[in-house]
Amino acid sequence: MKNIKDTFGSMVFNDAVMQERLPRSTYKALKTCLASDTPLDIDTANVVANAMKDWAIEKGATHFTHWFQPMTGVTAEKHDSFIAPSGDGTVITEFKGKELIKGEPDASSFPSGGLRATFEARGYTAWDPSSYAFIKDDTLYIPTAFCSYGGQALDKKTPLLRSIQALSRQALRILRLLGNNADNIITTVGPEQEYFLIDRELYLKRRDLVITGKTLFGARPPKGQEMDDHYFGAIKTRVHEYMRDLDEELWKLGIQAKTEHNEVAPAQHETAPIFTGANIAADHNQLTMDMMKRLARKHGLVCLLHEKPFAGINGSGKHNNWSMSTNTGVNLLEPGKTPAENAQFLLFLCAVIAAVDDYQELLRISVASAGNDHRLGANEAPPAVISMFLGDELTEILESIERESSYSGRKKALFEVGVHYLPAFAKDSTDRNRTSPFAFTGNKFEFRMPGSSMSVSGPNTVLNTIVAEELCRFADVLECSDDIPGTMTTLIKNSISAHKRIIFNGNNYSEEWRAEAKRRGLSDLPSTPDALAHFLDRKNVDLFTKHMIYTKEEMQSRLEILSESYCKTINIEALTMSDMARKQIIPAAGDYASALGKTYKAVSLCPGAPCRRISDTLVKLGVLLDKMYEQTDALDSAAAGIKACADSASMSRYCRDSVIPAMNKLRITADMLEMIVGEKYWPFPTYSDLLFGV
Ligand code: ADP
Ligand code: MG
Repeated sequence: MKNIKDTFGSMVFNDAVMQERLPRSTYKALKTCLASDTPLDIDTANVVANAMKDWAIEKGATHFTHWFQPMTGVTAEKHDSFIAPSGDGTVITEFKGKELIKGEPDASSFPSGGLRATFEARGYTAWDPSSYAFIKDDTLYIPTAFCSYGGQALDKKTPLLRSIQALSRQALRILRLLGNNADNIITTVGPEQEYFLIDRELYLKRRDLVITGKTLFGARPPKGQEMDDHYFGAIKTRVHEYMRDLDEELWKLGIQAKTEHNEVAPAQHETAPIFTGANIAADHNQLTMDMMKRLARKHGLVCLLHEKPFAGINGSGKHNNWSMSTNTGVNLLEPGKTPAENAQFLLFLCAVIAAVDDYQELLRISVASAGNDHRLGANEAPPAVISMFLGDELTEILESIERESSYSGRKKALFEVGVHYLPAFAKDSTDRNRTSPFAFTGNKFEFRMPGSSMSVSGPNTVLNTIVAEELCRFADVLECSDDIPGTMTTLIKNSISAHKRIIFNGNNYSEEWRAEAKRRGLSDLPSTPDALAHFLDRKNVDLFTKHMIYTKEEMQSRLEILSESYCKTINIEALTMSDMARKQIIPAAGDYASALGKTYKAVSLCPGAPCRRISDTLVKLGVLLDKMYEQTDALDSAAAGIKACADSASMSRYCRDSVIPAMNKLRITADMLEMIVGEKYWPFPTYSDLLFGV
């Protein structure tokens, strides 16, 4: 690799490139439009487009694409070349402002949840100038938002952008009252991405992995993660080379890949970038996932992003580190050193606490998927109950504010909102609580429930919006007050009293917590259908429509898409399981039974040779084989029932209550067979092969 400085951002049309390549007036016009949210005029767009094209062609690009994030969860693109006829049989290269600003992909094949009939195929992609264009695969990529002819969002970016603005709007109302002149508030996000790497040859032999991204069968290996010898362990050469390669490719795209380490489970790893604005972080995370999969292939590996590729082994999540910051980089969740800042910090902190408590269901919904259901609550990931970890120190401070008593833990200097001097938190001084779904980690919150394969746009759209709403409620009160410090104290105190039930610093994996959470009246939504049932609750519709994040129709369409995707996933898993059972496992077990039958015959020819255990094993095989047939039939009929459901809500409940249990039963039998059947008869690689095969 060339040196990092030359590599970093070399494929990005970033601010430095713009300053160098755009005429000063164009550069200024672009900046002004970005700062004020006004659309770009066509003349400026033409100049920008042309400069982008020249730059891209110099870097070897031949095509451009509008890059967008439909509701499939992966990104979409359609490539056009830069060529245009010159009239004399030759071509020139061309890229016009209108091609930069707007695209019209045929959108009928993307999920719209009923927003758009298939005959009305038109969808629009609109340039998002707040996320830099970049070059990948000889193509200039232009980040865009994707919406319907009628302006309804069909993607994950549009609502995220709306929510960033909503939060900024409300936060600024408060900051103004406190004499802060920030122009804009951004939400910052640093997603930690977990993943598995397995050998590609072995992967290709597992139909379940190829089709569904996870194993549907597999007995427990003799060694799993119980030795705890993988976490932060030495990185194997092949994996190390992959990680280096990944860093280099990400750096070229301006992604600040920073941390890499082995995770808890064998073959599990993590990569994390340095945080950035939520919109860019979401774009970068999509690019990162894409690059992770593609580069794995080059190294003879496969990168599994599924939330639960292996039963009994930790699944993968995406820890979403989140905070709010002024455009000049002042973190609003930094406890700070001065009293006035502390009061402001406490108010913003209380807004987050109130938001998480008031909108628990929405946070749960934002991470709901068939894959993530296997992870949440599975004694390795946060439970499906939402609570917040603040650490002892901060909790004590909040408690003392509520009691109006002095906080004695630290220095005693009273400040204007009636609390004692708040210590400046060293970033790592808060205790680690790995079991909390939503933990304060010094100067940011870490939302740990998102699944590894998900776009972070959904969870951040919810987070931004719910915090915007609480800030709005605070601002409404503060704007009518003639005693801002006094009113702030009251707001902080009341928020703590009203929402302290959401704070829990103990072990979230324990059974006692579930019972305690119930006593506290916290919502417990273990499955995706449970969670989705709340999406259209009145308060959620009011929230999203008030802040103009989604219209009611957009919400309905999203609910439809989420339910459908849940059912489709389970249907595909069921069909794959049945196929593997019938065509691979049953025949393999049969072959082994025949071989054992031969052994039995041979041994029984020897007078006095004991054959009991052999015949016992044959009987066991017979019983399990028969069960396999029976349970595969049962699974087939359960899967066939999916189509008969009247609507998507009942369909998803049916999948959860009838199809998943049938899959679980079949798996138990197959895994028992795997423990008996001879290795050379077993039709695909085992957990040991997959987890320790790299
Ligand atoms: P951990 O020990 O949990 O891995 P790190 O300190 O390494 O924590 O940070 C994890 C992620 O949090 C990184 O992506 C980091 O850039 C991000 N992060 C740090 N500060 C902020 C912030 N203010 N807003 C959002 N993300 C942040
Ligand atoms: Mg972390």
